[in-house]
Amino acid sequence: QKTDFGIIGLAVMGRSLALNMADHGFKVGGYNRSRMVTEDLVKEHPHENFIPFYELEELVRSQERPRKFLIMVKAGKPVDLVIDQLVPLLDEGDMILDGGNSFFEDTIRREKSLKEKGINYFGTGVSGGEKGARFGPSIMPGGDMEAYGHVAPVLEAIAAKAQGEPCCAYMGPDGAGHYVKMVHNGIEYADMQLIAEAYLLLKYVGGCSNREMADIFDEWNRMELKSYLIGITAGIFREKDDLSDQELLDMILDSAGQKGTGRWTSLESLKQGVNVSMITAACNARIMSNRVDPRKAAQSLFVSPEKKQPADKKAFGEQVRNGLYTAKIIAYAQGFELLAHASGEYGWNLDYGRIAAIFRAGCIIQADFLDDITHAFEKNPGLTNLMLDPFFLEKINAGQESLRHILAMAIINGIPVPAMSQAAAYLDASRGMPVGANLIQAQRDCFGAHTYERIDREGNFHHEWRLTDA
Ligand code: NDP
Repeated sequence: QKTDFGIIGLAVMGRSLALNMADHGFKVGGYNRSRMVTEDLVKEHPHENFIPFYELEELVRSQERPRKFLIMVKAGKPVDLVIDQLVPLLDEGDMILDGGNSFFEDTIRREKSLKEKGINYFGTGVSGGEKGARFGPSIMPGGDMEAYGHVAPVLEAIAAKAQGEPCCAYMGPDGAGHYVKMVHNGIEYADMQLIAEAYLLLKYVGGCSNREMADIFDEWNRMELKSYLIGITAGIFREKDDLSDQELLDMILDSAGQKGTGRWTSLESLKQGVNVSMITAACNARIMSNRVDPRKAAQSLFVSPEKKQPADKKAFGEQVRNGLYTAKIIAYAQGFELLAHASGEYGWNLDYGRIAAIFRAGCIIQADFLDDITHAFEKNPGLTNLMLDPFFLEKINAGQESLRHILAMAIINGIPVPAMSQAAAYLDASRGMPVGANLIQAQRDCFGAHTYERIDREGNFHHEWRLTDA
């Protein structure tokens, strides 16, 4: 049987994308290393446009040139192993897309080595989890711009649609697509952490019940914070437990895992010399959350601060909403600044407005707010930091007092809010407040003769420090 597209790896993501393509009228050939997975898929979801293959050679033979394959296997070594099996069967001009969460440096390496063999390789970020993959993900392809034309019709057909536009766009050469996906995931970490901090504030400072928080989040979801994550959180507050008569959220362990894309973003930002402190704070918050036993054991060791409740619960809720929105702007400003820096460093020419536009549907961070980001970059493509866009500047100036107030309440009450704290620190360092680096320069010159710069004249100076006692 002839096929239009081959998918290698039919686990959760691969099978969902295969069925999505099949729904859109493409003849999809599917192959999985373990035969049983393919058999189960055909049994559970038979589809006239999905054709199972049990030999890679046969899948390759089923296509006209240029052939197109999507690899959807576990990131890392398995991707190289699949490429090694596939490439000897291919001809020049054939195309391989890697839709997994591959590290962008691996993608750069693979693209380069396959280009030498005449194969077009696309590192393709796919966001939206199983449901997104099945019914419309956000897709971030990176590779050769001309070759992209061969796969664009398929990718754009299966992508989510926002205001009728596909949430899929060519990102740039080699690792650009996987880089954007990595930063997307980093922003997702910060977004989720900020919402978790808003929950802690409402619950432990504002004294709100899950029921009340569900209503508050429903209300927020009709305003500027409207987003997929706020929407599902409202529903989570209402969820009943199947195993007890409690509300489910209260029965879930206060400890969250991480797979690594947030950490990659954080490590990469340090390499680039860009501050994404809120993403790093979100990674660290998960690390702290994993210390379940030590945290429990320490409860009796440390004195708890005296509780201070807000005078007006409703007004406090409004401050949390404003503070959360302000901090969210700052998190996105950090993420997009990292993209801008990487774009220059790797020569990708990323289009930030377009990137925000393809996040508007299909992915976890989808939100109305992304339209405002697109507008900001459309108005000023050279914008260096989102906080400086007039729309966001006004929002930050209006919301910063709420952010400071809820932070003060969190600290007084002993509630950890690391991402919101980093938002305020980043804002204050950005808005020209002293950051204490004059003293750091002095210390460095004093102990290591590293020299220092002055405010009244150019050049590097060294001072013979006398360090006299009182
Ligand atoms: P997994 O990451 O769980 O990977 C399982 C698949 O990889 C199976 O098809 C498995 O084959 C195959 N595989 C593993 N090792 C090899 C190997 N050495 N050779 C050939 N095939 C191998 O699957 P998911 O569907 O969850 O994810 C696929 C990719 O998409 C990953 O990179 C993931 O990070 C990314 N992703 C996942 C999302 C999600 O929500 N799950 C969301 C967005 C991206 P076998 O059946 O034979 O073991």
